Amino acid sequence: MRKPIIAGNWKMYKTRDEVLSFVYAVNEKMPSNDLVDSVVCAPALYLRDLVKRQGANLKVGAQNMHFAEEGAYTGEVAPKMLVDAGVTYVIIGHSERRAMFNETDESVNKKLHAAFNHGLVPILCVGEMLEHRESGQTEAVIKEQIVKDLSGLTVEQAKELVIAYEPIWAIGTGKTATPEVADETCGFIRETVKELYGESVSEAIRIQYGGSVKVNNIKELMAKPNIDGALIGGASLEADNFIYFVEAAIN
Ligand code: 13P
Repeated sequence: MRKPIIAGNWKMYKTRDEVLSFVYAVNEKMPSNDLVDSVVCAPALYLRDLVKRQGANLKVGAQNMHFAEEGAYTGEVAPKMLVDAGVTYVIIGHSERRAMFNETDESVNKKLHAAFNHGLVPILCVGEMLEHRESGQTEAVIKEQIVKDLSGLTVEQAKELVIAYEPIWAIGTGKTATPEVADETCGFIRETVKELYGESVSEAIRIQYGGSVKVNNIKELMAKPNIDGALIGGASLEADNFIYFVEAAIN
């Protein structure tokens, strides 16, 4: 059995006061780590604030990092800085970063290697655009992302990786993929991982769905066999929703 993983991606939202209120509101309500991994991925500036206050069952993730050890990269954050701050997860290759900040499969691949080299658990985002889906290219696009992004990862690393399937047309639009479509594409991702790494990895790897996940659709999504969790944007900003999501993942 794969352990479910619920991650909130706060994107560029929240003030420090709001971050603190959130963590105090959810800490005691998080179910045991043994049942579900509950992660909040916050803006870099607030990571340390969260780590200092996180309860035993809440984990903290970053939304991005550079792949280099250190260097003259104004405005960037190095993997070892995240480790220093006490962060455990990092989102890599979110479609907003691919579309707006020129991230490529090549840089995503370097970031995945850098994350593992520093002991961070990456949440790799993949997904197709609406025109890909409408023209029947979804599987080809996703396969290309997976093959390029995972290139050179070891079996042990691939097992630990979390993949978030986020169809770009469903992000922030209120259009969720139906549970059937989401499950089918997560199943395709699992098959692709099987071709690359074999069955023990494809059975172990955790695949999340992301894109307009809300309290009214989380349960049907989580009920699907290939969906092991959710990466949630807008709806994860409210503490009560976040508590609902993690509970829905285990019930
Ligand atoms: P929404 O849940 O706001 O659609 O965002 C999804 C997402 O991009 C999570 O990474």
